[in-house]
Amino acid sequence: MASDQEGFSYPQINQDSCIDCNLCVKCCPITYGVAVHNKPTAFAAHHINNDIRMQSSSGGIFTAIAEYVIGNNGVVFGACFDNWFNVVHDYAETSEDLQKMRGSKYVQSRIGSAFEQVGRFLDQKRLVLFTGTPCQIAGLKSYLRSDNEYLVTQDIICHGVPSPKAWNKYLELFSKKGPIQTISFRNKDTGWSEFSMKVTFATEQYRRDLSKDYFLKAFLRNLCLRPSCYQCHFKTLHRESDITLADFWGIEVVLPAMNDDKGISLVLINSEKGKQVFQAISKDLICKPVDYLQATKYNKAATQSISLPEKRQDFLAHLNELPFDSLVEKHTKEKIRTIFRRFVLKIGSKTKKKLLHNTTKG
Ligand SMILES: Cc1cc2nc3c(=O)[nH]c(=O)nc-3n(C[C@H](O)[C@H](O)[C@H](O)COP(=O)(O)OP(=O)(O)OC[C@H]3O[C@@H](n4cnc5c(N)ncnc54)[C@H](O)[C@@H]3O)c2cc1C
Repeated sequence: MASDQEGFSYPQINQDSCIDCNLCVKCCPITYGVAVHNKPTAFAAHHINNDIRMQSSSGGIFTAIAEYVIGNNGVVFGACFDNWFNVVHDYAETSEDLQKMRGSKYVQSRIGSAFEQVGRFLDQKRLVLFTGTPCQIAGLKSYLRSDNEYLVTQDIICHGVPSPKAWNKYLELFSKKGPIQTISFRNKDTGWSEFSMKVTFATEQYRRDLSKDYFLKAFLRNLCLRPSCYQCHFKTLHRESDITLADFWGIEVVLPAMNDDKGISLVLINSEKGKQVFQAISKDLICKPVDYLQATKYNKAATQSISLPEKRQDFLAHLNELPFDSLVEKHTKEKIRTIFRRFVLKIGSKTKKKLLHNTTKG
């Protein structure tokens, strides 16, 4: 795999070693995708353990599923930070080790040798939970090339994945503060809906909400996502995974009594295996059934790719030239100017109306 100048990795074929078996093409989930015909069932849910819920991005359902798998001598794969805060796929075999997977990391995770490791655990007939983006689930399934009774998959409703290079440039902003100890993209100190980025150091901490943190701004304005995210093949309500997790955006309309701003997950059960796992963990959850169309109505990312901003290319092309904060300022300034212009126009038209009114009155 080699990174391009935007920081995204792509496979490179070494023509000297290639034996023309064409397997890489045959297991491409884009070219040979599987069409799923199912009717998911949906739930609004959260973990009964408040600590787990507060450490998780939405309702902590990932932890409940993962604990079930670990409890059955299984192995859990998910996205973690490595020692340098790169996002990578790794596995856990104990409950304590699940901590590193908890919480959304809004960066494309490096799969590395995770698919091969999954294959080896499945050969040993160990129960395996693989979690990731819908495209990673499709990739794993094509790589394995057959269904496996020991494999459970859980994906997420995915906005899109930012460039690891952009993430590293953002981390450079903290280089003078000493070694980073923890990072949370979804800190809930000021609530689940108004989440913030929190970075802790030995003697201080940084916390800024989603409208002010430079990385969250770039992520939510779609400035640094992988090109394929702008035309994602995996945005559908008929998914290859057994279970899909997401934030239950719109809970205040759909089930207002359940919303305490600590995080509610939207859970889609996509298969019989998913149903069995969900039944087994239901003792750890507060959960209510919902119509799946109503449940996804406020979550466009379930079915629609994000739009490609004009400035994306320019933003990523200048990653090496400007500090990350200046780059984000530069590429979001227009928006503020537009908002300001709109404000001035509104004030202008109000003043005009008032003048007109006064003139008419006069
Ligand atoms: C890149 C990304 C985009 C998302 N976009 C949306 C969205 O638009 N709308 C929405 O409703 N929900 C979105 N989510 C999902 C949401 O943020 C929660 O992850 C989900 O609700 C599960 O939360 P939880 O509380 O059950 O568990 P948590 O403990 O919060 O989640 C942990 C799970 O997330 C996985 N994960 C974390 N980071 C990554 C990563 N970089 N790549 C692959 N898997 C990862 C872990 O492997 C694990 O399965 C997104 C998540 C990610 C990672």
